[in-house]
Parts: sequence; structure tokens; C-alpha cells
Amino acid sequence: MIVFSTFYIFGNEVGAAHGILGLVAIIAVAIAMRIVAGKWDRARIREELESSGCTFVSATWAPFGKGSFGEDSSRSYEVCYLNPDGERQYASVKTSLFTDVFWSGDGSPQRFGGRKPEPSPQAPILPNSEGTDCSNCGFFLELEHRFCPHCGAKKQ
Ligand SMILES: [Zn+2]
Repeated sequence: MIVFSTFYIFGNEVGAAHGILGLVAIIAVAIAMRIVAGKWDRARIREELESSGCTFVSATWAPFGKGSFGEDSSRSYEVCYLNPDGERQYASVKTSLFTDVFWSGDGSPQRFGGRKPEPSPQAPILPNSEGTDCSNCGFFLELEHRFCPHCGAKKQ
């Protein structure tokens, strides 16, 4: 308002027009930068989530969220994502163009990242068909039996 009134006081219409155009341009650039920064923020948040095996659902800009005040250039988002088990998680994050994504509290997806599926040790299962019956008494002998545990006869 001060800007506009100054132009009118001096009565310079050309100057006023330039002033308004300049102001509009500055606002337009600011909005464009905000949109681009928001896209980058979301891309980084998505990247962090996916590197921990989580699925990005949404990130809502929270201009008055946790940590909005203090550091000038950082932005806060309320993030919703799915953990590797498909459970919905909610977290607040703070990020800026030159910093990493900070997850407030225990909302970080990294707690899921370390959880890798344990390779279950394959126990060798010997099918019964690979055994033989004792030729002496008919007791079932497994592969590792060299002597019949029932009658003591040597396996044929
Ligand atoms: Zn036997």
C-alpha cells in the first residue's frame, strides 16, 4: 500500500504502472519459486520414503506447522505415507532447498528401512521316499542310517 500511494503522490502514471508491473512480476516469481520448491520438497520426501521401502501418499504444506518459525528458508509438511506393511503413517517434516528432510519425532521412515526380510535358513528336508526299509526286519531306515536302529543289521 505504501508503494502504491507513493507513486500516486508523485502523480507519475508511467512510474505507477511500472511499479505495479514490477510488483506483479515479483509476486509471480515468488509464487513460481514456491511451486517449484514445493515440487522439489515432495520429490525429496518421496525419495526418502522409497529408499526405506515406504510409499508416498501425500505431503501437505503446513505453513504454521512445527518448526516453521526460526529457520527462515525451511518449510514444513504434514506427510502421509504407507510403511512396508502397508500401514498408514503420519509425520511432520521440515526441509529446505539446501538441507535434508528432517522428520520430527519418530515419524522417520528410516525405522522401517533397516527391517529387511530375514532369509530363512533352508533346512534340508529329506523326503521319506529316499530312505529304505531294513532288508532284515523291515524297519524304515533313513539315508544317514548305516545300521538298522531296530535290529542292528547293516544297511544293504
Ligand atoms: Zn532291521
